[in-house]
Amino acid sequence: MNVPMLDLKKQFAGIKDEVMPAIEKVCQEQACCLGPAVKQFEKNAAQFCNADFAVAVSSGTDAILVSLMAAGIGRGDEVILPSFTFAATTGTVARLGAVPIFADINKRTFNIDPVKIDEKVTSKTKAIIPVHLFGQMADMMPIMDIASRHGLTVIEDAAQSIGASQDGYSSGTVGDYGCFSFYPTKNLGAFGDAGMITTCSSENDSICRMIRNHGQNKQYEYERIGGNFRMDGIQGAVLNVKLRHLKDWQKKRQANARLYDELLKDVEQIKLPFIESGNVSVYNQYTIKAEDRDQLKEFLQNSGIGCAVYYPAPLHKQKCFEYLNCSRESLPITEKVCRQVLSIPVSPELERQQLEYVVEKIRKFYGC
Ligand SMILES: *Cc1c(COP(=O)(O)O)cnc(C)c1O
Repeated sequence: MNVPMLDLKKQFAGIKDEVMPAIEKVCQEQACCLGPAVKQFEKNAAQFCNADFAVAVSSGTDAILVSLMAAGIGRGDEVILPSFTFAATTGTVARLGAVPIFADINKRTFNIDPVKIDEKVTSKTKAIIPVHLFGQMADMMPIMDIASRHGLTVIEDAAQSIGASQDGYSSGTVGDYGCFSFYPTKNLGAFGDAGMITTCSSENDSICRMIRNHGQNKQYEYERIGGNFRMDGIQGAVLNVKLRHLKDWQKKRQANARLYDELLKDVEQIKLPFIESGNVSVYNQYTIKAEDRDQLKEFLQNSGIGCAVYYPAPLHKQKCFEYLNCSRESLPITEKVCRQVLSIPVSPELERQQLEYVVEKIRKFYGC
């Protein structure tokens, strides 16, 4: 049996009749960059995320970059973030000449630990980027508390968590900015690169809009330095269609996760995802901690099961951040977790027999 991590062809087959006319409309109108479909998506997505404003941009990476630029983060400013995340979280900070300061994570949720953030605040700290990893929000209350005590901007990296919530608050609406990615492997995926910033401040909204389009205020009047961070019309059209299905897909992911939780709970060699009380996860990944992780991964892959390690190495040990002199620094939980984690298929397109097959193979590997 084959159990892919993600089956986007199958997803497309189910929505083709809605997607193709939407794309054709953009082609007919030749509204290639931004345009009516993107505008409509901003409205729909803001509503979906319970945000007052949504600014459609070119990628999740650019959503973070634009937010940092809007917050005025620049040379020498320190930004506290996790090392256990995708490169974009940190790369954007570094590109602006600001200094990424890594804080360790909670070993059960994999998200940044507020206590560790507090220890890293200095007079140069300007912002915190909590990442809502694998679909579960970071512990936002204490983070907002630290931010308000020190006057820091909070930029939520919500690339993996559209639709997630914490104590009733939606992902991307707690901090000053929420950054979403619509890369095809995310829970809401475009047909290429796309992203979005949510905010509940009309001032932040207008600044992000300006930066998205070269910092232009009126045509050929540039109020601040921006860039080309616009979303394509076709992506807006595709995302409008897919957004209508997102709640259902999310429920399917959650049901798949519950099934794994049930069928794997007695396997002693693995630790199942831990969802903090008050949190609703949207399971962009179902990530276990496994004994003999590399051997298990190989065994599953040889059995036709897609699985992956997010992330095999922490960012503070990467070559590109050597100049920060943080490679000797110890983030013990981050480093340990990198050796334990394995993400197994949880996508909405999976059939029950496929999930049962994954469970059977995991049990077989551990002989239980
Ligand atoms: C995917 C992702 C990004 C970047 O999004 P892109 O759309 O690929 O640029 C940033 N942060 C995290 C945590 C991600 O998973």
